[in-house]
Amino acid sequence: MKPKIIILGAGYGGLTTSLILQKELHSDEADITLVNKHSYHYITTHLHQSAAGTKSTDRIKIDLGELINPKKISFIKAEVKKVDIKTNQEVYLNNGQILDYDLLIIALGSEIETYGIEGLKENTFSIRSVNTVQLIKEHIDYMFAKYKAKEAKPEYLTFVVGGAGFTGIELLGELTDRIPVLCKKFNINPKSVRVINIEASANALPGFDTQLVDYAVKLLEKKGVVFINNTPIKECTENGVVLANGELIKSKTVIWTGGIRGNKIMETMGIDHHCSRVKVDEFLRIPSFENIFMIGDMSIIMNKNGQPYPPTAQMAVQQGKYTADKIISYIRNGERYQTPFTFLNKGVVASLGKGEGIGKIGHKQVTGYRASFLKQLIDNHYLYSIGGLPVLFKKGSM
Ligand code: FAD
Ligand code: NAD
Repeated sequence: MKPKIIILGAGYGGLTTSLILQKELHSDEADITLVNKHSYHYITTHLHQSAAGTKSTDRIKIDLGELINPKKISFIKAEVKKVDIKTNQEVYLNNGQILDYDLLIIALGSEIETYGIEGLKENTFSIRSVNTVQLIKEHIDYMFAKYKAKEAKPEYLTFVVGGAGFTGIELLGELTDRIPVLCKKFNINPKSVRVINIEASANALPGFDTQLVDYAVKLLEKKGVVFINNTPIKECTENGVVLANGELIKSKTVIWTGGIRGNKIMETMGIDHHCSRVKVDEFLRIPSFENIFMIGDMSIIMNKNGQPYPPTAQMAVQQGKYTADKIISYIRNGERYQTPFTFLNKGVVASLGKGEGIGKIGHKQVTGYRASFLKQLIDNHYLYSIGGLPVLFKKGSM
């Protein structure tokens, strides 16, 4: 009997596993099904660009039909509603389908963390999917149009980014590239626009190299960003954000980049988790479930100092490859998963807008154009790895 393999999520982790299984396994070796709520894979690492409007959403979407061979993998476009791993070993989809499995790979990514902040969910924008960033882009354009055509209220042109982690910093880099373009388009004095970052910690990018943080902050300040550190956002209303010190910053555009948690589907699984993420075993399986891998942002992996690695695309891709290799070896040799997963940290590179960035590769720091070029190389390498030259030419940055 062919084993039934179900892969949930066609993001960085799930797509990587799918594409390796598609390439390596013959169709008579396994029955593979991939489930994703959209018919496309999206380049999460470019979402901030589409949010700011510096890259169209078409450039960050890749039709799964271009990547998945239906003779090898059945693709189902549906939303996973429940995963029952304890009683029936079944996955429930929003189209009514129920899937059973021999091997299950859960790679459903993350959601924003609200920390219970009042009004946050209702009154802020978030960088989570193609749809949420399209909304941000349209909203920003509308704010400029409204300021010009209706009433010149300062809050229309006050843009607040909550959180100065990598998502917040990268977004600020793109926003400050786009704002001069919009000022020109709407004939608005750039001095009327305010871009404010609010960060709970003492400085931006907490824990990252001080010299690189200083470089990023100075550059973004030069591009017009005002940083408010050491000041958590306490509440969000339709008029703006209330800070821990009681100050209200009036704004009609608050973009929350204050952190993430795992996919809420975790809550349907009846297992122990930490903010919808699970500390997986050394073979990336949910403890006590030998046939269920959990990879990407939903998994927690500890480094040698006992700290969790940050959830990143490079982690998800490496986990995706490992999982595929293990499944192939299991199917071919009946081998149990003997070699533990190890993460190879290839470094961190972040963009700060056009031609600018910061990065750390090993102990080496890179800034400016070199970092930006490196980021493009990494992104292009990923595109090539999933779709070869056709996808690289269509979606890559040249
Ligand atoms: P995802 O890639 O998010 O994939 C999850 C998939 O599951 C998606 O296709 C989604 O549509 C689907 N899905 C979700 N829920 C359901 C459901 N209920 N039913 C069906 N399908 C569902 N990391 C880096 O290493 N380098 C970077 O430069 C970098 N830049 C980033 C920039 C931004 C703006 C952001 C937001 C993140 C960035 N990251 C970066 C982090 C990286 O994007 C994530 O760690 C990575 O995407 C995690 O991969 P994943 O497979 O776990 O989840
Ligand atoms: P994060 O958790 O890394 O950063 C969130 C920031 O928000 C923190 O600095 C935190 O102090 C701040 N914050 C929390 N509560 C707050 C409050 N109430 N008010 C103000 N500030 C508050 O989240 P992220 O930036 O979305 O990153 C998520 C993951 O994605 C990370 O693992 C990151 O490394 C990865 N990522 C990587 C890249 C890259 O490598 N270029 C880019 C984006 C994201």
